[in-house]
Order: sequence, then C-alpha cells, then structure tokens
Amino acid sequence: MKFIDLDRQYSAYKEEIDGALSRVLESGQFILGPVVEELEKVLADFVGVPYAVGVSSGTDGLLLALMAYGVGPGDEVITTPFTFIATAEVIALLGAVPVFVDIEPDTCNMSVEALQKEVKARMAKGAPLKGIIAVSLYGQCSDMEEISNIAGEYGLFVIEDGCQSFGATYRGRRSCGICGLGVTSFFPSKPLGCYGDGGMVFTSDHEIFERIRMLRVHGQARRYRHEFLGINGRLDALQAGVILAKFPHFKEEVAKRQEVAALYNRLLQEHLPEVRTPVVRDDRTSVYAQYTVRVPAERRDEIQSGMKEKGIPTAIHYPLPLHKQPVFRAHAHLRLPEAEMAASEVLSLPMHPFLEPHEQEEIVVAMKECF
Ligand SMILES: *Cc1c(COP(=O)(O)O)cnc(C)c1O
Repeated sequence: MKFIDLDRQYSAYKEEIDGALSRVLESGQFILGPVVEELEKVLADFVGVPYAVGVSSGTDGLLLALMAYGVGPGDEVITTPFTFIATAEVIALLGAVPVFVDIEPDTCNMSVEALQKEVKARMAKGAPLKGIIAVSLYGQCSDMEEISNIAGEYGLFVIEDGCQSFGATYRGRRSCGICGLGVTSFFPSKPLGCYGDGGMVFTSDHEIFERIRMLRVHGQARRYRHEFLGINGRLDALQAGVILAKFPHFKEEVAKRQEVAALYNRLLQEHLPEVRTPVVRDDRTSVYAQYTVRVPAERRDEIQSGMKEKGIPTAIHYPLPLHKQPVFRAHAHLRLPEAEMAASEVLSLPMHPFLEPHEQEEIVVAMKECF
C-alpha cells in the first residue's frame, strides 16, 4: 500500500498528461510562455481573484510574497510553529524574525486568540511587526477573515500559506483568494500536484502582482533592465502542462478525498474511540492534503511501527514544532503547549482519491490490532 498513490492517478489520466507534455515539447517554449499563462488564468478564475503568478515552488512563492511586501532585516512576521519548515524559513532567509504563536488544539491552525494577544503586545511596544503568514494546515483554511481583521486593524499584510489547501472553501470563498495574498504548491504529493516542483501566488492587489512578476525573473521590468533584486522563481512550462491536464479532474478528486475522509471518520469513530478524528469547522471544507488523527503520545511510535510491519505506511506531520528545530534554536525557550502536544500525538494515514473502501477497512483493522 502507498501513502499517496500517484501511479494510480497517472494511469487514470495518462493520455491527457502525455498529450500535454508532448504539446509543450513540440512548442519549444519551456520557460514561462502560453501554457504557464493559460494555467495562471484558469487557476485565478477557480480561486476567484484577478491575478496569479506561476512560480518555481510553494517555498519560492512565499519568499516572493514576502519580498513583494518589502520584508527585510529586523522585521517581524507572525506565523505558526506547527507547519512545514518553509513557512518560517523564508521569513528568516530575508533577515526577518519569525514570531511563533500557538495553534488551536482541534484544527491545528493558528489560534486567532493567541494571534490577537501577540499582535497587541508587539504593537504596544513598537515592535517592527510587518505581517502574518497563516497556514491552512492539512487542507483546511485557517480562520482567514478573523486573521485579516486583526491585520487590518494594525496595517499588517496577511499571506495565506495554502500549500496544502488548494481547492478548500472558507465561508463560500476559496483558499488562496480570501486574504491579500495566497500561495500554493504543486509538489507531487499535494492535492493538486505536478511531476517536479511548482507553485502559484494569487492576489487581488495589482501592485503586488506586478512586483511578484518582476521578482520571479530577477527583478526584471523588461529584458536586461532590473528594478529590484529578485530570484529565478519561474514555473516551468512542462509542469504547467501537467497541472492543466490534471485540473479538469480536480473537483472530482477533492470530492473523493472528502468521501475517503468521511469513511475514515465513520470507521474510526465506530472501532477506535481512542483515536481523535480530524475536526473541520462548519464554515469551511477541507481538501484533506493529509488525513491526520490524534493518538495518545505514549502509544504513537508502537502504533506506527506496528502498522509499518503490516505494510501500511503512515507519516507524522510534524514531529517537531518549528520553535524546537535546531535551526530556530533562538526560539527554543518558547512554550507553545498546543503545538508541542500536537507534534507528539498526530499521525497521518494513507490519503489519496484512489484509495478504496476495502483498503481503508484494512488500515483501520490494522490500527485497531496495533492498539
Ligand atoms: C509543501 C509546503 C510548502 C512548500 O512547498 P514546496 O512547493 O515544496 O516548496 C510550504 N508550506 C506548507 C504548509 C507546505 O505543506
């Protein structure tokens, strides 16, 4: 059994994907060009914003966004400690300081209460706080409107790290289109993945859009005329072709992921009440980039290794909150109990749209045996 079965997906859409790749190969246009532009338009429409910029990865999308907002040495950006390293890494790479606030115990997204307190305290003492990166973890949006309201009150920018939540909805709007700027990733294992690295930035702000377009090609306004220091941050045409070929199936895949999650919920609640199933708020939907449950911390290792012996792969997203990472040792004194507890209890089960009900039953039976 696979944790994410990309082979089944490729078999299902092989002709469309191969066709899209051939068209790019025959066009001879590999860097940006019409296929990337078409994808930007299609996905901007889907998200419901006027502007999208194809970028080289989710990480580079976040970096470009911070650069566009002018983040630099000494600035502070608030984020969550319970995410993939990239979210905070890009802040620190620009010489700015990530400020970690704790998470909600059930959704594992940033706590609005903790955010409000931190922003208030920092602004009161004149801290160089510039913005917020909220992460929509496991496929469910953070409380983007509440976060945007707090940001608006203090003139901060808000970025949604939607690398796991592309396609999710929040109060009827789509992830990456709710606050000032959203970033997603097309890393192969993400809900909408390509066959390499890729990502996209979404915004309604024309000025930010123009700046990110320049920053992704070395700050270039026109050929060999460089206005800013930028990076090589482009989405390549082959990867854009792959996404364009997969995208017509995306809504159906999201619905399948939600069915898979619903069956897991039912099976686990019936057979394994010790396991806490994921919580999705009433005003949103999840695309289940991960199906992540909570198990007692002291049992997790044996459950994971027991399942591995039975041929069932699981994963831990994430075993160490960012303030406990060696690279962020300056933050090691922080106490963020919810993030620390989540890191010790979470366990992700196989999740992809091609998972069969009998496989899910097998997974739950194996898990019960391991308990
Ligand atoms: C995957 C991921 C990223 C980074 O995306 P890449 O395309 O791999 O660079 C950033 N943030 C979160 C929350 C992610 O899950």
